[in-house]
Amino acid sequence: MELCTYKINIRGTVQGVGFRPFVYALSQRYLVTGTVSNNSNGVEIILNTDTITLKQFLIAVEYEYPPLASIDTIEHCEMTYIPFESFEIIQTEDSGDITVNIPPDLSICKECEKELLDHTDRRYGYPFITCTHCGVRYSIIYDLPYDREHTSMKFFQMCKLCEEEYNNPLDRRYHAQPIGCHDCGPKLNLLDNRGMQVEVITNEIEKTVNLLNEGKIIALKGLGGYHLVCDATNKSAIQELRKRKKRPTKPLAVMVRDINMAKMLALISPKEEELLVSQERPIVVVQMKDKYSSDIAPGISKIGLFLPYTPLHFLLLDKLSFPLVATSANITDEPICTNLESLEKLQNVYDYVLDHNRDIVNGCDDSVLMVVKEQQVMIRRARGYAPIRIELPFTLKEKVLALGANQKSTIAIGFKNQVILSPHIGDLDSISSVEYYEKNIESLERIYKFFPKVIAYDKHPKYESTKIAKQIMEKNQDIVSKEVQHHHAHILAVMAEKQITSKVFGVAFDGTGYGDDGMLWGGEFIICDCEDYERVASVEYFKLLGGAKAIKEPKRVALSFLFSLYKEEVFTLNNPTTQEFSSQELDSYYTAWKKGLNAPLSSSMGRVFDGVASLLGICQVMSFEGESGMLLEELFDGSVTGSYAFNYENGKIDILPMLSALLREKNISISVSKFFHTLVEIVAAVYKPYDLPLVLSGGVFQNKVLLGLILERFPKAIISNTIPPNDGGIALGQVMATMNTSRN
Ligand code: ZN
Ligand code: ZN
Ligand code: FE
Repeated sequence: MELCTYKINIRGTVQGVGFRPFVYALSQRYLVTGTVSNNSNGVEIILNTDTITLKQFLIAVEYEYPPLASIDTIEHCEMTYIPFESFEIIQTEDSGDITVNIPPDLSICKECEKELLDHTDRRYGYPFITCTHCGVRYSIIYDLPYDREHTSMKFFQMCKLCEEEYNNPLDRRYHAQPIGCHDCGPKLNLLDNRGMQVEVITNEIEKTVNLLNEGKIIALKGLGGYHLVCDATNKSAIQELRKRKKRPTKPLAVMVRDINMAKMLALISPKEEELLVSQERPIVVVQMKDKYSSDIAPGISKIGLFLPYTPLHFLLLDKLSFPLVATSANITDEPICTNLESLEKLQNVYDYVLDHNRDIVNGCDDSVLMVVKEQQVMIRRARGYAPIRIELPFTLKEKVLALGANQKSTIAIGFKNQVILSPHIGDLDSISSVEYYEKNIESLERIYKFFPKVIAYDKHPKYESTKIAKQIMEKNQDIVSKEVQHHHAHILAVMAEKQITSKVFGVAFDGTGYGDDGMLWGGEFIICDCEDYERVASVEYFKLLGGAKAIKEPKRVALSFLFSLYKEEVFTLNNPTTQEFSSQELDSYYTAWKKGLNAPLSSSMGRVFDGVASLLGICQVMSFEGESGMLLEELFDGSVTGSYAFNYENGKIDILPMLSALLREKNISISVSKFFHTLVEIVAAVYKPYDLPLVLSGGVFQNKVLLGLILERFPKAIISNTIPPNDGGIALGQVMATMNTSRN
């Protein structure tokens, strides 16, 4: 049969996952000659073969591709004949649009785990063991294509043995970019909190294990940043960590040795187990069996668990008899520390640092997930999942940069029919986090060789992200701007994930988002498609006493509700909220409330949760975001039925009847349960006349009880599974909104 030359292009997650060696192995099987290479679009194969073998080859690619790969498209075409002597893996340069997916960081694989514990293996106990099917990627990448010289491994010269493995297409470590060993790879270094090297007798790991046994707090360099770790069963160590980190009550994540240890601590559903042991190794929020240690999550029966994901974690946990508290090392409101310099600011928090000399190029927090009605809900999308590529149900007219919101910010770039969403960056409340955010924009633009023609951003004029959008536009006059309303973006994020472009009925229950009328929205019912939305209903405005202060102080929201209900009579009331204020304060807040002084209007469902928590005496001042909602969840009793009254007229939902009934209830658990049921009734009442898909989004849907109840009532309700319902999804929604935006 006649030999021709064919070019095959494969797109998807095909780099850094052993794709080229896989193709090489196929070439040996089918006795074909040619080349395979990575380029910025994915993998390119040039083959000399006949049509029948080509077909077989393509089928084999499609059905046998490596476990970590995923294929979006395979295209092939015939080209002018080129003679080849053999089949080879080569490098090619490409300067087009980069459409390849950056591979995420993954946990250690079973085979590496085996070698790690095998006394006879040359990598026995090597804390950076890796292969083509596991380990660091995104966090060490400077640039694409994903090759060693574009990663922070470029500073390590491979030894002879490693080089042989790296160059042998039949080796498990063929082109494993972070390959290394005791002789040539990164090394551990144990320091005290003044940066002085600690002398170790056997090795750094054993010494660290001893320190943890003594109750010390260690800053541990992981994949995408440092963790602060200590013995999770040592009360005083945890208390010390809380005191030093000024984090009195916020739940701490716990790393357990394996799934069995996880099951000793918590009730774990099959879906939760699947997530815990997955190669992405997220933190999964699960139900504790008993209040295992009130210091880990005071007053809260849920716990964020995760399994070791780097060989270093694995070696440490293997030698410890207890789980570890493992919380991101960062200063409040600042990004995760990724080098010793940034970690230094925390030297009063940790006693020692277990450091290593492989640079973290792209910081990346742990991902956090929960499972509701056996559906996965992403709370923080970062390590293992990020960066993610999302395929849009349409083709964008221009290249888009979307700047997200201000809290839990992420950024997205959109081109053709795809969006790359950055990992969780964090809240833009400090100078260093804004710098970090700008660095993220730069690196996405650099890696993807991207220059936007359209900038999408939130309507909130005071968001840092909005300010940055305006700065970029000032410098580049021909960029088109697209303001996107916050809650519209929330619903659009779900639509993007689910590839919906038709009209939907969206419920956005949220903390705050800037409304078209300048008010702080957050209890919104909208009908929308990509381009436009109509606000069909919302929670009746209430006044936030003290403005931004009310966000952290539920008692201010509750007091505002009380004024709406009882006016001056509030002065004579005695309930958990009024007890928080002196009569003088009540007096001046009443004046402020009446006159609307420093009391912006809001329809935020997040604040309604806060207000209810205060009225019931559950939470008056929050020490971390979402605390009131978590505490309310604890008091929910599944056996309680019934709900409270509310008024719904002319698109306004009046919740005051619910609040006054709730205040009269004697049993707090009944009040809380009926409160949740009332919210479901509100959604049902507003949604009733519409024959449209029901889409739920917004940070309030991180509440497991509320989301569970709504999914029970509306099993077809659409939520996102891979994109967070909180502001982490806003950037994606903003790209969706630019569907038809072009330069003229
Ligand atoms: Zn491996
Ligand atoms: Zn080596
Ligand atoms: Fe939001």
